[in-house]
Amino acid sequence: MKEIKIGSAVSTAAGIAKGRLKVGDLPDGRPVEIPVLIGRGAKDGPTLWLHGCVHGNEYCGTFIIHQLFRDLNTDSLSGTVVALPALNLTAFRKNQRMSPFEGYGGGDLNRCFPGKADGSLTEQMAHAIYSELKQHADFLIDFHTAMTADVRWALFANAEGEVGKKAEGLARAFGYNSTLPAPTDILGGSALMTAAKDGIPSYIVEAGGKGPAFTPEAVADGAERLANVLRHLEMLPGAVTDYGPLTYFSNFAWVMSTRGGLFQRAVQCGDRIEEGTVLGQYYDLHGGLDGEAVSPHAGVVLAIHPGPLMANGETLIHIGLDPREV
Ligand SMILES: [Zn+2]
Repeated sequence: MKEIKIGSAVSTAAGIAKGRLKVGDLPDGRPVEIPVLIGRGAKDGPTLWLHGCVHGNEYCGTFIIHQLFRDLNTDSLSGTVVALPALNLTAFRKNQRMSPFEGYGGGDLNRCFPGKADGSLTEQMAHAIYSELKQHADFLIDFHTAMTADVRWALFANAEGEVGKKAEGLARAFGYNSTLPAPTDILGGSALMTAAKDGIPSYIVEAGGKGPAFTPEAVADGAERLANVLRHLEMLPGAVTDYGPLTYFSNFAWVMSTRGGLFQRAVQCGDRIEEGTVLGQYYDLHGGLDGEAVSPHAGVVLAIHPGPLMANGETLIHIGLDPREV
């Protein structure tokens, strides 16, 4: 079998190879080395690239990837699953979204692809990761979370031709109902759009909330849907589950809070809302009702602020616009 080498993970035979990929240096000179898993099938087939925690505190995807690998029988696998379950390890360790050590730069790894070999730490990380991704991946699935444990939505890079069609195939096989066929002029610097522009069909899963806000059920369900993607790609044997029609959006809208207060949400992720739907209540510190948040748009709730404390300018809600069943 042809050798597949990503950092110190080296695969020359069917089975699971583990290792680490160096993506940068810490200020104290120690290397930043992120975990790599290579699940190699006994038979030939495509390479599916999975990664989680491009935003450091989005741990649900890490657990979904781990579960897939615990369940993976490489004797019946055709092709290769490459997984980097903790991409932005510097942010992962600190339970935060963005990279530390970035000064005024921001440090959003998912806006830095394809990266820069001589850039900031986060740009160097993106470069080291993307060089491998571009070389090996036939398909990309990128795991994210939003704000609360009930988040379940997805987006695929709606590129021209086969790249977009194959990405839509990933979306149908994973089967999260709320799905955005994402126009390729949004999310610049994301792994999703960078890979799509290089001809790699790409899909993002948004499952659960940041930090500990996710459930074992979300992990088990996500791992089963991921296995269904492998069946759809004919990388694993077995019947492909049909999750039925999906709800597509034309785009999404972020709505920020213009005030602060104690906040209690009144809607759940996946709910249909209208312009004027009450999204939640504000309370003052004496316990009195102090106003309502209402939606400026109709659509479907993709993410909603978890409360209990709302600050001015925080994300109140993320709405999928113009829902239609496809
Ligand atoms: Zn994210």
